[in-house]
Amino acid sequence: MDHSTCPVCGSPLKVLFKLRFNVYKCDNCGLLNSDAQFEHSFESALEAGARDPGLKALRLQNFITIIAKLKAAKKGDLNGLEIGSGNGWWLETCQSQKVGCIGIEPEHVYEDYHQEKKLDVIYGFYPDVSPKKEGGYDFIIFNDVFEHIPDINSLVESLKQDLGDDGILIINIPMSTGFFYRIATLLHKFGMNGPLTRMWQFNFHSPHMNYFNESNMKVLLEKHGFNCAEVFKLKSLDIQSTKDRMLADKNMSKWKASLMTSALKVMKPAIDSSEPDIKAFFFKKRPGK
Ligand SMILES: [Zn+2]
Repeated sequence: MDHSTCPVCGSPLKVLFKLRFNVYKCDNCGLLNSDAQFEHSFESALEAGARDPGLKALRLQNFITIIAKLKAAKKGDLNGLEIGSGNGWWLETCQSQKVGCIGIEPEHVYEDYHQEKKLDVIYGFYPDVSPKKEGGYDFIIFNDVFEHIPDINSLVESLKQDLGDDGILIINIPMSTGFFYRIATLLHKFGMNGPLTRMWQFNFHSPHMNYFNESNMKVLLEKHGFNCAEVFKLKSLDIQSTKDRMLADKNMSKWKASLMTSALKVMKPAIDSSEPDIKAFFFKKRPGK
Protein backbone atom coordinates (compact mmCIF):
# COMPACT_ATOMS: atom_id res chain seq x y z
CA MET A 1 0.00 0.00 0.00
CA ASP A 2 1.21 3.48 -0.93
CA HIS A 3 1.80 5.89 1.97
CA SER A 4 2.88 8.92 -0.04
CA THR A 5 -0.61 10.31 -0.62
CA CYS A 6 -3.66 10.55 1.61
CA PRO A 7 -6.32 7.93 0.76
CA VAL A 8 -9.04 10.43 1.67
CA CYS A 9 -8.06 13.68 -0.10
CA GLY A 10 -4.96 12.85 -2.17
CA SER A 11 -2.66 15.38 -0.45
CA PRO A 12 0.91 14.32 0.51
CA LEU A 13 1.35 12.31 3.71
CA LYS A 14 4.24 13.08 6.09
CA VAL A 15 5.71 10.86 8.81
CA LEU A 16 4.30 12.04 12.14
CA PHE A 17 5.94 9.50 14.47
CA LYS A 18 7.42 6.02 14.53
CA LEU A 19 6.42 3.29 16.93
CA ARG A 20 6.43 -0.38 15.90
CA PHE A 21 5.11 1.02 12.60
CA ASN A 22 5.20 4.46 10.99
CA VAL A 23 2.25 6.80 11.41
CA TYR A 24 1.74 9.42 8.69
CA LYS A 25 -0.39 12.54 8.78
CA CYS A 26 -2.21 14.40 6.06
CA ASP A 27 -1.81 18.14 6.71
CA ASN A 28 -4.83 18.90 4.56
CA CYS A 29 -7.56 16.70 6.08
CA GLY A 30 -5.86 15.47 9.26
CA LEU A 31 -6.10 11.74 8.47
CA LEU A 32 -3.63 9.59 10.42
CA ASN A 33 -2.48 6.59 8.40
CA SER A 34 -0.15 3.75 9.41
CA ASP A 35 1.94 1.25 7.46
CA ALA A 36 0.99 -1.53 9.90
CA GLN A 37 0.40 -5.05 8.63
CA PHE A 38 -2.26 -7.57 9.48
CA GLU A 39 -0.23 -10.45 10.93
CA HIS A 40 -1.84 -13.89 10.90
CA SER A 41 1.13 -15.37 12.76
CA PHE A 42 1.40 -12.67 15.40
CA GLU A 43 0.40 -13.66 18.91
CA SER A 44 -1.76 -10.96 20.38
CA ALA A 45 -0.76 -9.40 23.73
CA LEU A 46 -4.42 -9.39 24.70
CA GLU A 47 -5.75 -12.56 26.26
CA ALA A 48 -8.84 -13.36 24.19
CA GLY A 49 -10.99 -14.68 27.04
CA ALA A 50 -10.13 -12.01 29.58
CA ARG A 51 -11.31 -9.23 27.32
CA ASP A 52 -15.00 -10.03 27.38
CA PRO A 53 -16.61 -9.30 30.78
CA GLY A 54 -15.47 -5.69 31.19
CA LEU A 55 -16.26 -4.53 27.72
CA LYS A 56 -19.56 -6.26 27.13
CA ALA A 57 -21.95 -4.04 29.12
CA LEU A 58 -20.54 -0.88 27.57
CA ARG A 59 -20.64 -2.26 24.05
CA LEU A 60 -24.21 -3.56 24.39
CA GLN A 61 -25.36 -0.17 25.67
CA ASN A 62 -23.86 1.49 22.58
CA PHE A 63 -25.46 -1.10 20.28
CA ILE A 64 -28.89 -0.45 21.80
CA THR A 65 -28.37 3.28 21.11
CA ILE A 66 -27.45 2.56 17.48
CA ILE A 67 -30.44 0.26 16.94
CA ALA A 68 -32.86 2.85 18.39
CA LYS A 69 -31.49 5.47 15.96
CA LEU A 70 -31.62 2.98 13.10
CA LYS A 71 -35.26 2.09 13.78
CA ALA A 72 -36.12 5.80 13.95
CA ALA A 73 -34.38 6.44 10.62
CA LYS A 74 -35.75 3.43 8.75
CA LYS A 75 -39.18 1.92 9.35
CA GLY A 76 -40.27 -1.67 8.72
CA ASP A 77 -38.37 -4.96 8.81
CA LEU A 78 -34.63 -4.45 8.71
CA ASN A 79 -32.11 -6.82 7.15
CA GLY A 80 -28.49 -5.87 7.43
CA LEU A 81 -24.91 -6.99 7.16
CA GLU A 82 -22.19 -6.57 9.77
CA ILE A 83 -18.61 -6.59 8.55
CA GLY A 84 -16.18 -7.99 11.12
CA SER A 85 -18.50 -9.55 13.71
CA GLY A 86 -15.77 -10.65 16.13
CA ASN A 87 -17.38 -12.08 19.24
CA GLY A 88 -20.92 -11.57 17.83
CA TRP A 89 -22.25 -9.06 20.39
CA TRP A 90 -23.81 -6.84 17.71
CA LEU A 91 -25.56 -9.85 16.14
CA GLU A 92 -26.80 -10.90 19.57
CA THR A 93 -28.22 -7.42 20.17
CA CYS A 94 -29.94 -7.51 16.76
CA GLN A 95 -31.45 -10.88 17.69
CA SER A 96 -32.92 -9.48 20.92
CA GLN A 97 -34.15 -6.31 19.15
CA LYS A 98 -35.78 -8.25 16.26
CA VAL A 99 -33.45 -6.84 13.64
CA GLY A 100 -32.19 -9.20 10.91
CA CYS A 101 -28.42 -9.20 10.41
CA ILE A 102 -25.82 -11.49 8.82
CA GLY A 103 -22.24 -11.23 10.06
CA ILE A 104 -19.00 -11.65 8.12
CA GLU A 105 -15.93 -12.54 10.15
CA PRO A 106 -12.46 -13.62 8.94
CA GLU A 107 -11.48 -15.41 12.16
CA HIS A 108 -12.82 -18.63 13.68
CA VAL A 109 -11.92 -17.82 17.31
CA TYR A 110 -15.54 -17.18 18.31
CA GLU A 111 -17.16 -19.82 16.08
CA ASP A 112 -18.38 -21.99 18.98
CA TYR A 113 -19.99 -18.97 20.64
CA HIS A 114 -21.67 -17.96 17.35
CA GLN A 115 -23.12 -21.47 17.01
CA GLU A 116 -24.25 -21.61 20.61
CA LYS A 117 -26.13 -18.29 20.21
CA LYS A 118 -27.44 -19.32 16.75
CA LEU A 119 -25.88 -16.26 15.10
CA ASP A 120 -25.76 -16.08 11.32
CA VAL A 121 -22.03 -15.73 10.57
CA ILE A 122 -20.16 -16.32 7.32
CA TYR A 123 -16.39 -16.83 7.67
CA GLY A 124 -14.06 -15.01 5.30
CA PHE A 125 -13.23 -11.52 4.08
CA TYR A 126 -15.66 -8.94 2.76
CA PRO A 127 -16.57 -8.61 -0.11
CA ASP A 128 -15.26 -12.05 -1.25
CA VAL A 129 -17.72 -14.14 0.79
CA SER A 130 -20.51 -11.59 1.06
CA PRO A 131 -23.98 -12.92 0.13
CA LYS A 132 -25.81 -10.64 -2.33
CA LYS A 133 -29.23 -9.41 -1.27
CA GLU A 134 -31.93 -8.59 -3.82
CA GLY A 135 -32.37 -4.79 -3.79
CA GLY A 136 -29.40 -4.39 -1.42
CA TYR A 137 -29.13 -4.39 2.37
CA ASP A 138 -31.18 -2.07 4.59
CA PHE A 139 -28.01 -1.35 6.52
CA ILE A 140 -24.34 -2.32 6.60
CA ILE A 141 -22.49 -1.77 9.85
CA PHE A 142 -18.88 -1.61 11.05
CA ASN A 143 -18.33 -1.80 14.80
CA ASP A 144 -14.68 -0.90 15.55
CA VAL A 145 -13.66 -2.48 12.26
CA PHE A 146 -13.46 0.26 9.59
CA GLU A 147 -10.19 1.60 11.08
CA HIS A 148 -8.54 -1.83 10.56
CA ILE A 149 -9.13 -2.00 6.80
CA PRO A 150 -6.19 -1.12 4.52
CA ASP A 151 -7.87 -0.19 1.20
CA ILE A 152 -10.72 2.07 2.27
CA ASN A 153 -11.52 3.40 -1.21
CA SER A 154 -12.21 0.02 -2.80
CA LEU A 155 -14.06 -0.99 0.37
CA VAL A 156 -16.47 1.96 0.08
CA GLU A 157 -17.10 1.17 -3.61
CA SER A 158 -18.09 -2.40 -2.65
CA LEU A 159 -20.37 -1.08 0.09
CA LYS A 160 -22.13 1.13 -2.44
CA GLN A 161 -22.93 -1.95 -4.53
CA ASP A 162 -24.24 -3.97 -1.59
CA LEU A 163 -26.33 -1.29 0.11
CA GLY A 164 -29.94 -0.67 -0.97
CA ASP A 165 -30.76 2.77 -2.48
CA ASP A 166 -32.38 3.71 0.77
CA GLY A 167 -29.95 1.79 2.94
CA ILE A 168 -27.85 3.17 5.77
CA LEU A 169 -24.12 2.68 6.13
CA ILE A 170 -23.24 2.75 9.84
CA ILE A 171 -19.65 3.32 10.94
CA ASN A 172 -18.96 3.08 14.67
CA ILE A 173 -15.36 4.14 15.11
CA PRO A 174 -12.75 5.65 17.52
CA MET A 175 -11.78 9.26 16.78
CA SER A 176 -8.32 10.86 16.58
CA THR A 177 -9.84 13.95 18.21
CA GLY A 178 -11.06 12.03 21.27
CA PHE A 179 -9.88 12.61 24.83
CA PHE A 180 -7.96 9.33 25.17
CA TYR A 181 -6.20 9.74 21.84
CA ARG A 182 -5.08 13.24 22.83
CA ILE A 183 -3.80 12.02 26.21
CA ALA A 184 -1.92 9.16 24.53
CA THR A 185 -0.34 11.66 22.10
CA LEU A 186 0.70 13.89 24.98
CA LEU A 187 2.27 10.98 26.90
CA HIS A 188 4.12 9.94 23.73
CA LYS A 189 5.66 13.43 23.58
CA PHE A 190 7.00 12.78 27.10
CA GLY A 191 8.53 9.51 25.95
CA MET A 192 5.78 7.14 27.11
CA ASN A 193 4.90 5.07 24.05
CA GLY A 194 2.64 2.45 25.65
CA PRO A 195 -0.72 4.26 25.47
CA LEU A 196 -0.29 5.37 21.85
CA THR A 197 0.85 1.88 20.82
CA ARG A 198 -2.28 0.56 22.55
CA MET A 199 -4.55 3.09 20.78
CA TRP A 200 -3.17 1.96 17.41
CA GLN A 201 -3.27 -1.68 18.54
CA PHE A 202 0.24 -2.15 17.15
CA ASN A 203 0.86 -5.05 19.55
CA PHE A 204 -2.21 -6.92 18.32
CA HIS A 205 -2.42 -9.00 15.18
CA SER A 206 -5.01 -6.66 13.63
CA PRO A 207 -3.69 -3.10 14.13
CA HIS A 208 -5.36 0.17 13.09
CA MET A 209 -4.59 1.31 9.56
CA ASN A 210 -6.24 4.74 9.91
CA TYR A 211 -7.42 7.13 12.60
CA PHE A 212 -10.18 9.46 11.40
CA ASN A 213 -11.79 12.64 12.68
CA GLU A 214 -15.39 13.60 11.95
CA SER A 215 -14.60 15.80 9.01
CA ASN A 216 -12.24 13.52 7.05
CA MET A 217 -14.60 10.59 7.60
CA LYS A 218 -17.32 12.62 5.88
CA VAL A 219 -14.95 13.70 3.07
CA LEU A 220 -14.09 10.05 2.33
CA LEU A 221 -17.72 8.95 2.07
CA GLU A 222 -18.87 12.07 0.18
CA LYS A 223 -16.17 11.40 -2.41
CA HIS A 224 -17.85 8.04 -3.09
CA GLY A 225 -21.38 9.40 -3.40
CA PHE A 226 -22.66 9.24 0.18
CA ASN A 227 -24.14 11.96 2.38
CA CYS A 228 -23.86 12.01 6.13
CA ALA A 229 -27.36 11.74 7.61
CA GLU A 230 -26.42 11.67 11.29
CA VAL A 231 -23.44 11.61 13.68
CA PHE A 232 -23.70 10.88 17.38
CA LYS A 233 -21.39 10.14 20.25
CA LEU A 234 -21.09 6.73 21.88
CA LYS A 235 -19.92 5.90 25.37
CA SER A 236 -16.24 5.06 25.67
CA LEU A 237 -15.74 5.14 29.41
CA ASP A 238 -17.16 2.97 32.07
CA ILE A 239 -14.71 2.91 34.97
CA GLN A 240 -15.18 -0.75 35.89
CA SER A 241 -14.96 -1.94 32.29
CA THR A 242 -11.86 0.19 31.74
CA LYS A 243 -10.17 -1.48 34.72
CA ASP A 244 -11.15 -4.93 33.43
CA ARG A 245 -9.86 -4.01 29.99
CA MET A 246 -6.53 -2.89 31.44
CA LEU A 247 -6.26 -6.11 33.43
CA ALA A 248 -6.89 -8.05 30.20
CA ASP A 249 -3.65 -6.60 28.85
CA LYS A 250 -0.84 -9.00 29.85
CA ASN A 251 1.65 -6.12 30.09
CA MET A 252 -0.36 -4.24 32.72
CA SER A 253 0.21 -4.92 36.42
CA LYS A 254 -2.69 -4.92 38.94
CA TRP A 255 -1.48 -1.91 40.94
CA LYS A 256 -0.94 0.12 37.78
CA ALA A 257 -4.48 -0.68 36.63
CA SER A 258 -5.87 0.40 40.03
CA LEU A 259 -3.88 3.62 39.97
CA MET A 260 -5.05 4.48 36.48
CA THR A 261 -8.66 3.66 37.38
CA SER A 262 -8.50 6.12 40.30
CA ALA A 263 -7.06 8.79 38.02
CA LEU A 264 -9.87 8.21 35.52
CA LYS A 265 -12.51 8.61 38.25
CA VAL A 266 -11.11 12.06 39.03
CA MET A 267 -10.99 13.04 35.36
CA LYS A 268 -14.39 11.63 34.38
CA PRO A 269 -16.30 14.96 34.32
CA ALA A 270 -13.62 16.48 32.07
CA ILE A 271 -13.67 13.42 29.79
CA ASP A 272 -17.46 13.48 29.50
CA SER A 273 -17.48 17.10 28.44
CA SER A 274 -14.61 16.87 25.91
CA GLU A 275 -14.58 15.63 22.29
CA PRO A 276 -16.00 12.08 22.14
CA ASP A 277 -13.64 9.14 21.70
CA ILE A 278 -16.14 7.11 19.73
CA LYS A 279 -18.67 8.33 17.19
CA ALA A 280 -21.26 6.57 15.08
CA PHE A 281 -21.95 7.86 11.56
CA PHE A 282 -25.03 7.17 9.44
CA PHE A 283 -24.41 7.64 5.70
CA LYS A 284 -26.89 7.36 2.84
CA LYS A 285 -26.24 7.08 -0.89
CA ARG A 286 -26.95 10.24 -2.88
CA PRO A 287 -29.77 9.60 -5.37
CA GLY A 288 -28.49 8.42 -8.74
CA LYS A 289 -25.12 7.31 -7.30
ZN1 LIG B 1 -6.06 14.00 3.50
